[in-house]
Amino acid sequence: MKKVLFKPVVALVGRANVGKSTLFNRLTRSRAALVADFSGLTRDRHYGEGRVGKYPFLAVDTGGFEPVAKSGIVAEMARQTQQAIAEADVVIFLVDARAGVNAHDHEIARLLRRAGQRVFLAVNKAEGMRNAGAIAEFHELGLGEPYPISASHGDGVVDLIEHALSFLDEGADDDHADIAHDEDAYSEVFDVDAEDGLPDLDAESEEPADDQTRHRIKLAIVGRPNVGKSTLINTLLGEERVIAFDMPGTTRDAIEIDFEHEGTPFTLIDTAGLRRRGKVFEAIEKFSVIKTLQAIEACNVVVLMLDAHAEISDQDAHIAGFIVETGRALVVAVNKWDGLNAEERDRIKHEFERKLRFLSFARMHTISALKNKGIQPLLKSIRSAHAAAFSKLSTPKLTRVLVAAVEQQPPPRKGIFRPKMRYAHQGGQNPPLIVIHGNALDAIPDAYRRYLEARFRAAFKLEGTPLRIEFKSST
Ligand code: GDP
Ligand code: GDP
Repeated sequence: MKKVLFKPVVALVGRANVGKSTLFNRLTRSRAALVADFSGLTRDRHYGEGRVGKYPFLAVDTGGFEPVAKSGIVAEMARQTQQAIAEADVVIFLVDARAGVNAHDHEIARLLRRAGQRVFLAVNKAEGMRNAGAIAEFHELGLGEPYPISASHGDGVVDLIEHALSFLDEGADDDHADIAHDEDAYSEVFDVDAEDGLPDLDAESEEPADDQTRHRIKLAIVGRPNVGKSTLINTLLGEERVIAFDMPGTTRDAIEIDFEHEGTPFTLIDTAGLRRRGKVFEAIEKFSVIKTLQAIEACNVVVLMLDAHAEISDQDAHIAGFIVETGRALVVAVNKWDGLNAEERDRIKHEFERKLRFLSFARMHTISALKNKGIQPLLKSIRSAHAAAFSKLSTPKLTRVLVAAVEQQPPPRKGIFRPKMRYAHQGGQNPPLIVIHGNALDAIPDAYRRYLEARFRAAFKLEGTPLRIEFKSST
């Protein structure tokens, strides 16, 4: 059992219209386009990966914040915001330079002072503002030095985030450095210099991956409360190994539990039982979206657990969307399959498949964690999803598949340009990244990208992992 550190969480807080989502999009360089069809569920993105300077982090956009409301949907948002504040490592409190300080800002400031978190006051929409007094006015919120920024133009944003994350340099944070290092190891598996023309097509690149990354499967089991996560973990580990954690820790701590299944070493990333203490917001829910996201970040393969007896909710869709965004390998487990009759099973399966169409790259299993049914096939799919995520895609074969795909169906012309794809190589793993080189590739439409993706998927049997395609034009 080891303790690991997660990526730090940066929460964006402030009243409506101050520019939270603008800043969020800038920090996360929105990959929303990857998260296609939620079948009627909301597509709002509130969580994203960011990197400014040397540290990667998770950004959380808390949405509007009305701390005074006592009930209804607004109160629910306030509750979620408070949880996000409690769980964040850093809070960026946004105010509006043009509107000046208002009563609402004071209300939020009061809450933030009580929370005892690291808070950075960002005075947004400050582009082109020469009047220092307008910024200085925000001192009265009692949250220290205001940082003038412009979320839409980018002014001051890097500086702000670097300051906000500078606490990471203070403590010994070696574990965190490990995570960052691991990630670097995943990208840039091949290094083909486009300037030199075609890579050697006869050389099958057989660069061996680090054995640890290749064989040990880092697994996270995520899902809403009561879907059966703890039950599945107990089933996987064996009852005798049930461990009740209750130790103080920060939100960036998690527990790793090693186990083996048929010779394959697994590490389970478990977030259960850890909670922050001595804060105002003590009543942290049993379920934490942020911990869920951090666990997804830290693993290679996610098991997304759903309850056969419950509807798929927006929250499920958010988590699923985040899995796709981070590119983690995925297996869906529909739990509590025991005690359903054939008709119910048919209906539920059909409905889940329809709603989760955007996860069609993943296998869906029906299981009973309680009765230990369907667990072996689930583990098998986890292993194959992991293998797919870490596949080695040789340049010659990638290029052959590409050429065959283009022969069968060339990309559409755009104006006088016909995009020309010359060769493909692998640019990363977990998820596999295929880099296609050629000319005028900016003109390739999404539908054609999806066509290529399907061809690569079929040729390399990439089931269970998202797949990324990147186009690099030399003209
Ligand atoms: P949220 O409700 O806090 O998420 O705010 P939004 O990000 O939706 O922004 C509200 C409005 O402020 C939008 O019209 C944005 O275009 C505008 N806005 C955001 N950032 C800036 C900025 O840095 N400068 C200016 N002038 N407008 C901004
Ligand atoms: P968690 O909150 O996701 O960790 O969910 P738990 O593992 O605590 O399970 C919540 C409830 O669902 C408990 O009462 C479990 O006994 C029950 N449960 C878990 N798995 C199954 C299952 O496969 N079938 C049935 N019928 N109940 C289950």
